[in-house]
Amino acid sequence: MKKIFNYLNPIERLGNNEYSFIFPLVANVALCILSEVYSYGIVHDPMAVGTYIIFINVAFIIYFSFRDGISGGIISTIITVLYYFYIIYNRPYDKTQIATGIDTALSIGVIYILLAIIIGWLKQTIDKLIGREANEKLWLQLILQQLAVGVIITDNKGRVLQTNNQLENILGIKLPSGYILGKDKHLIRRSSTNIPFFAKQSSIYQALKAHKSIIRKEFAMRRNDGKDIFVQVDSSVIRNKNNRIVAAASIISDITQEKELERQKDDFLSMASHELKTPITSLKMFIDLQTQQLKENDATKAVYYNERIRDQANRLKELTNDLLDVSRIQTNKLGLKTEDFDIAEVIHDIVESIQGTTKAHKIIIKNTKKQIVKADRYRIYQVLVNLLSNAIKYSPRGKKIFVQINKDKNSIVVSVQDFGIGISKSQQERIFDRLYQVSEPRERTYPGLGLGLYISKEIVERHKGNLWVESQKGKGSTFFFSLPL
Ligand code: ADP
Repeated sequence: MKKIFNYLNPIERLGNNEYSFIFPLVANVALCILSEVYSYGIVHDPMAVGTYIIFINVAFIIYFSFRDGISGGIISTIITVLYYFYIIYNRPYDKTQIATGIDTALSIGVIYILLAIIIGWLKQTIDKLIGREANEKLWLQLILQQLAVGVIITDNKGRVLQTNNQLENILGIKLPSGYILGKDKHLIRRSSTNIPFFAKQSSIYQALKAHKSIIRKEFAMRRNDGKDIFVQVDSSVIRNKNNRIVAAASIISDITQEKELERQKDDFLSMASHELKTPITSLKMFIDLQTQQLKENDATKAVYYNERIRDQANRLKELTNDLLDVSRIQTNKLGLKTEDFDIAEVIHDIVESIQGTTKAHKIIIKNTKKQIVKADRYRIYQVLVNLLSNAIKYSPRGKKIFVQINKDKNSIVVSVQDFGIGISKSQQERIFDRLYQVSEPRERTYPGLGLGLYISKEIVERHKGNLWVESQKGKGSTFFFSLPL
């Protein structure tokens, strides 16, 4: 029923530029037939077709030009005028009446045509305007959907009019249609307490209430899938020409990664200060002790303290070198000085000096064959020292550490295997990130800045090689790095 009504209602068809040709034709012919049936069949008077038909014809012409544009009006006019001619010749009129009839029919026809053109043209212009507006709306929609930020647009009461896909991606939910921000239950939970925000905490609601934009509001949220996210919301009120608020819009950006980085940097600063403070405190303590011993003339003890001072100074040097390397990597200034050298020999040197630092571990080189590589000797040395120190550091209960060189067609692969604490699958990719450490800084058991593997990976990759790990939590880890031949 509604379909039929919509089909017949010209207002419903505004903006729809499908103009029918058949419908006005059929309707007007049907009107003529009905009129003939009426005069011959019902009132039995052929002259009964009188002025009433003119009114009906005018109504039809107006209707069809408004429904089907100029063509609809013209079709109706042609059929009407043809019908008039049919009546003039069909009815028993004399010659003078016929001549007057033809004149009248033609004059009325001209008026009808003008009516059809004016109304039809109006209808077609309205259709075009509506069409253009719809196109612009569609175009805006398309842009809105593809924006990289989430968008909510509401009316001035906070009722959601429009959102985009990115909003759903960020929040993990779709706002139901007709949802009112600031009034309906807030659909997002806080990450700290896991309870929903107050409806009135909605940024759009506050902007609408305060009559001004509210920018850079940050929210820590917990999505329904349990993921904690940080979002930044910028809400603005939108005014019309008369400065009246007619709508509001929010832009929602996912800043979880930036926040995580910020947190890592804060942790790093506190860790770096802690790491640097430890050797400085020891240095001070050993210098005091040594001064005491020098006063007491105990050379053996003084030498012992001197050596500890040297160790702590070295530790400080390592820490500052790491920090410098990171800054070199960041500014792309970590250059390589490549030369040909025997990597087996470098491994022997390192193992000998590192073995000297631990009695609990036994470092075993499995393959000692000479192996010439073209690389930066100092940087490869640094990678090996880092892997071996980690192997010792992360196997606190001692045991064996194996170092091995393998050669395949295009590269040599060096591996360092320990039987320490191991690394869970989920952490294995992240340990190569800058500042990443498996344990939380607050509960740290192992010293370090979380920079060693990041620097090592950069060094190896700059040699066009690769650094990776195979590990099982609780069983130990094997770190591998390859260098192209
Ligand atoms: P740091 O040792 O200074 O923390 P690294 O970049 O060298 O930094 O290592 C990053 C993290 O990877 C370490 O914090 C540690 O959790 C993990 N890791 C590195 N080597 C090993 C290893 N051999 N066994 C277990 N975990 C390791």
